Amino acid sequence: MTNKTEKVYALAFGAHPDDVELSCGATLLKLIDEGHRVAVCDLTQGEMGTLGTPETRKKESEEATSVMGYRKRITLDLGDSKIHYTEESLKEIIRVIRHFQPEVVFTNPPDERHPDHMKASGLVYDALYYAGLKKIDSLYNDEKQEPYRPRHLLYYMQFKHFDPSIIVDVTETFARSRKGILAFSSQFYREELLHEPETMIQRKEFLSGLEARARYLGEQIGAHYGEGFSLPGPLGVTSFSAVFPER
Ligand SMILES: [Zn+2]
Repeated sequence: MTNKTEKVYALAFGAHPDDVELSCGATLLKLIDEGHRVAVCDLTQGEMGTLGTPETRKKESEEATSVMGYRKRITLDLGDSKIHYTEESLKEIIRVIRHFQPEVVFTNPPDERHPDHMKASGLVYDALYYAGLKKIDSLYNDEKQEPYRPRHLLYYMQFKHFDPSIIVDVTETFARSRKGILAFSSQFYREELLHEPETMIQRKEFLSGLEARARYLGEQIGAHYGEGFSLPGPLGVTSFSAVFPER
């Protein structure tokens, strides 16, 4: 890998491999369909997951990346189930942000069931700010990086429901985003896994529950499927009619 930046439009962070696909995959596909570059960064390798070995999960991430059509996926090693707020973790995220120079960043929401999700959320929020500070040095492949601060941060919806600030109509891409999710097949329900300890997302009903929520969110904006996001602050509107188009 060279130090040359690989500019993307959107960069999606997830504490674990599959967080991104499960929560905002259909929105990312929509961006890719529109011709935007999208990259993903998993903060951990998901090695503590009840199901699947790190090797299987790595293969699954690669499969998901090619199915989804991301420009690139980076997997950091901040330690599954032991993500902590350290200077080094923050630096790792700053490096990724400065490398991809995204306009929009997606990440885990601040209030969640899994502690890693909450910690990832806080780290990414802070890293976004610090990445823009000139006096914070960082290296990527031994070369000095330029400061860069993305303009927009969006929190996707995971286990805990919240009232979204925006709902994206993902009617066109929802079915396809399923393929990205199913690439992580070790995590989901299969008959032969019945003797394994059951995890939250491995329950037979999990995927249909996810679909029901997408339907519900879609319904709120008059669409078939929707993905919901919250923002850390108000959304500034430059082109009013781009946000509120005339029919
Ligand atoms: Zn997760």
